Amino acid sequence: MAPGLYLHVPFCATVCPYCDFAVVVGDVERRERFVRSLIAETGLWGDADAGAWEGFDTIYFGGGTPSLVEPDQLDRILAAISSRLRPADDPWIFLEANPEDVTVERLRAWRALGVRTLSLGVQSFDPTALEFLGRGHTPDQARRAVEAAATAGFSTLSIDLIYGLPGQSEAAWRSDLETAVALGPDHLSCYQLTVHEKTVFGVRKRRGELEEMPEDRQAVLFLLTHRLLRDAGLPGYEACSFAREPEHRSRHNTKYWDHTPYLGLGPSAHSFAGRRRWWNHRSLGAWQRSVDAGERPIQATEELGDRELALERLMLGLRTSVGVDVEALAISCGVDLTRDSPRLERLIADGLVERDGRYLRATLRGLAVADGIARDLAP
Ligand code: SF4
Repeated sequence: MAPGLYLHVPFCATVCPYCDFAVVVGDVERRERFVRSLIAETGLWGDADAGAWEGFDTIYFGGGTPSLVEPDQLDRILAAISSRLRPADDPWIFLEANPEDVTVERLRAWRALGVRTLSLGVQSFDPTALEFLGRGHTPDQARRAVEAAATAGFSTLSIDLIYGLPGQSEAAWRSDLETAVALGPDHLSCYQLTVHEKTVFGVRKRRGELEEMPEDRQAVLFLLTHRLLRDAGLPGYEACSFAREPEHRSRHNTKYWDHTPYLGLGPSAHSFAGRRRWWNHRSLGAWQRSVDAGERPIQATEELGDRELALERLMLGLRTSVGVDVEALAISCGVDLTRDSPRLERLIADGLVERDGRYLRATLRGLAVADGIARDLAP
């Protein structure tokens, strides 16, 4: 499998109260300095590892809010990637965008740059939910953005939604899903709200001002999501990801799930190859100082042992509709799940996993607790 390339754009118009990504609010000048440093970072991977990193077939602009970077800046970044990192011919380019940044001109420019998957951070069509999440767009803006993007000629149009907000009813979440489906996207990503400690929501939770949705309620909404979208012609192919047709599945994210090598550039970006994972400095300043000094801005590296590798493969694989290739797992990590063990038999009898040839797969009920199953099966 060809490697993938991820580019982290760390800017947002404001920082949402639940966000724990590496993001800052940056002005035009700061963004331009970032673009120059990102271009410089591509040069730090060009020659020494040309063989290892040649032939990227996916390029993913994530963040943060990549739609805050001007199309001509994206063009310069793509030109640097082409000349220094030698991607495959015609790589699949993904761009995350916020609805408030979508205009007809921008959509045309993104298409002209070769963007094939546009992923819109809608999060909800409910004004109260959008306000609670601190988002900068209205439901109408979200709808108009999706409608405009749908006619712009992208191969895949994706919508991101968030559920599991405190007190959210089944009816409210169902309404969000139905509104999204009615707009005809090719792909949906539905994430459960997680309250991270070092966020505004984390502080409010500690003060007793915010109560997370209990796990059993989250599970009800999780199952509702998978059933409703399956019946609407968007079956889940991963715990949070739904696609109309196989060609709309994220070929970039699939690399994360099956441990295909990927290189991440930009602050906080993670990379993986073989058994090695490394990540860049999280702060924009530290990342930029390192790049500007001509050094790869790596903050830390870890080498996965058999146990960690097996646990990750199980966790990632059980979240996908493909499942875990148990023969490959036995060869790469020495973990033999090709034959039934008491633990495995119990999970199968409980209807949480099933075998399909060389693959072990979570059932829909199992998918809701896939991490726990992986821990149960890992050595
Ligand atoms: S727009 Fe996305 S990346 Fe930016 S602050 Fe909000 S959640 Fe975080």
